[in-house]
Amino acid sequence: MARTPLPIRSHLAVLGPYGVTRDELAALLADEPPYRVGQVWDALHRRAAWPAEMTELPMALRERLAVALAPALTPVLLREADGGETLKWAFEAEGGARIETVLMAYPDRVTVCVSSQAGCAMGCPFCATGQGGFVRHLRSAEIVEQVAWATRERPVTHVVFMGMGEPLANYDQTLGAVRRLHDEMGISWRRLTLSTVGLVPGIRRLTTEGIPVNLALSLHAANDELRNELVPINRRYPLARLAEACADYVAATHRRLSLEWAVIGGVNDRPEHAEELARFALRLGAHVNLIPLNETDGYRAPGLPRAAQFRARLRALGVNATLRRTRGQQIAAACGQLAGR
Ligand code: SAH
Ligand code: SF4
Repeated sequence: MARTPLPIRSHLAVLGPYGVTRDELAALLADEPPYRVGQVWDALHRRAAWPAEMTELPMALRERLAVALAPALTPVLLREADGGETLKWAFEAEGGARIETVLMAYPDRVTVCVSSQAGCAMGCPFCATGQGGFVRHLRSAEIVEQVAWATRERPVTHVVFMGMGEPLANYDQTLGAVRRLHDEMGISWRRLTLSTVGLVPGIRRLTTEGIPVNLALSLHAANDELRNELVPINRRYPLARLAEACADYVAATHRRLSLEWAVIGGVNDRPEHAEELARFALRLGAHVNLIPLNETDGYRAPGLPRAAQFRARLRALGVNATLRRTRGQQIAAACGQLAGR
């Protein structure tokens, strides 16, 4: 077999170790014994080792791969909080785009929250990422590499697409990453969660994929008037169509839907909001995750008692609702604060 032609190699350096297919890796290793392909592939995916660290390889090969498969992301910041149980990276990607990744370790799981885009075009006014606007889509290799960086710190069990960006607006690259995390890194479908602002065509397409990942819908308001304001894309995909698409997803995958609700003081935390949410959730058999708002320009957090009262109201209406303990607030690692500052 011939050596890999140069143009592909310079392309690889941009995409990083997770931008090559197994066949491309085999081409890169054409002059090596065949077992090297599996050896390097497994080291990349199971150990999240960089080629320079693969001491099992001969030095010359290690050096060659360190160039050809150099990481695509450069960590520019790593901060820790919650006694080391929360880690936040800021990475610089190709072209200078900034993205963030958060690892949250719990007694029974290690969850990594990945970015799917640098910035976001959806413009939800309470979200720091939305306030910053859209920069660019991430490649699937860049999404997978975020998990690899985290795996180097802790064995990752769960991945949630709740960092910067709207995953279903970057559908192909997101799905490419989801498949690679499942197929090569061994993360089961039920430990992968896509969080969406509610792009109906994306939800419909996901329904046909035959991959039962968890779906989290960022609802925040269960009447169109308020949701149009908090989630501007609701004007294009209003609640009735969204509910239908979600119901079909649940029917096809048998996964339970979760509804994300950032509790915003005085905006969506009144009794009538709980009643509207309860109707929406019960119809879909959905679980509700309440997230006390992380304050951003112009939006206030509710007092904790008020958020707890909202949860109690939902529970009294028969809804399965949890109030999420927010992590990493001291290091701005919480939802909606990932703006690559
Ligand atoms: N774009 C996707 C995924 C990234 S946002 C989505 O919107 O679902 C991940 C979650 O953080 C979403 O539920 C989003 O609504 C929430 N979020 C955004 N800003 C927030 C804030 N300031 N406080 C709390 N949650 C926030
Ligand atoms: Fe984008 Fe999600 Fe933020 Fe809305 S909440 S602006 S969809 S990242």
